[in-house]
Amino acid sequence: MDHPGNLFVVSAPSGAGKSSLVRALREFDARVYPSVSHTTRAPRGQEKHGREYYFVSDTEFDAMVTNNGFVEWANVHGRRYGTAKKSLEERIKGGTDVLLEIDYQGALQVKNAFPNAVLIFILPPSWDELRARLENRGEDAPEVIELRLRNAEEEMAQVAKFDFVIINELFESALFDLKAIIHAQRLKYAAQRRLRADTFESLNIPESN
Ligand code: GDP
Ligand code: ADP
Ligand code: 5GP
Repeated sequence: MDHPGNLFVVSAPSGAGKSSLVRALREFDARVYPSVSHTTRAPRGQEKHGREYYFVSDTEFDAMVTNNGFVEWANVHGRRYGTAKKSLEERIKGGTDVLLEIDYQGALQVKNAFPNAVLIFILPPSWDELRARLENRGEDAPEVIELRLRNAEEEMAQVAKFDFVIINELFESALFDLKAIIHAQRLKYAAQRRLRADTFESLNIPESN
C-alpha cells in the first residue's frame, strides 16, 4: 500500500532528545506534520491540551480503545499513550508527510498497519548523558526519572527492528541526520515519479519497466 505521503516514526528512550529534534526539524521543514497523541498522563509545566498531547482520563481512553479509535496504543512508563486513527490515513493518502513520536511498542504496531512507515530510533551517546539530560530537563520527579531510566534498557534493545538509527550526541549533527533520512524518502522513485511527472513525461520514461 503506497501512499503519496510518508509516515515517519521516531522512537527513543525518554531524554534522548526526540522531542527537541522533532521541534527543530519542524522549524526548518513545515511540511512534516506532527501527529498529536492521546495520553492518560498529566500535563507537564508548559504543555497544552491539543498541542503536545490530548490529555484524557482513563475512561475517555478506554472509550477510544473500545471504539477502535487508535492505530496503535501502548502502556509506557505506567501510563497509556495512543495515536488516533482519525485523519492519519487521510493525511498520508492526501500526500502529507506525517511524523509520529511514539514508543517502540507503538512503532512496531504502526509498521504492521503501514509497512512503508519509516522507523527511526534515537539513541543517547551514553547512560551518563541520558541521566544528565533527564535530570537537567527538570520536568520529572526523581522516581519518574528512575523508572524511565530502568525502561530505557528494554527500549534500546529494540533498536534492531528500526530502519534508521541516530545517535544524538551533537544536536546539530543529529538534526542533520534526521533531515537526511526525510530528504532521502522524498527522493524515492515513486515520490519523484509523482512529484515530477512532467519531467518523467518529457524524458519519455514509461511508467513501469
Ligand atoms: P537538506 O538536505 O535539504 O536538508 O540540506 P543540506 O543537506 O544542505 O543541509 C541541511 C543542514 O545541515 C544545513 O543546516 C547544513 O548547514 C547542515 N549540514 C550540512 N552538511 C553537514 C554535515 O556534514 N554535518 C552537519 N552536522 N551538518 C551539516
Ligand atoms: P525526549 O523527547 O526524548 O524525552 P527531550 O527532547 O525532552 O527528550 O530532551 C531531553 C533533554 O536533553 C532536554 O532538556 C534537551 O534540551 C536536552 N538535549 C536534547 N538533545 C541534546 C543534545 N544533543 N545535547 C545536549 N542536550 C540535549
Ligand atoms: P512523554 O511522557 O515523555 O511525553 O512520553 C513518554 C513515552 O511515550 C515516549 O517514549 C513517547 O514516545 C511515548 N508516546 C507518546 N505518544 C505516544 C503514542 O501515541 N503511542 C505510543 N505507543 N507511545 C507514545
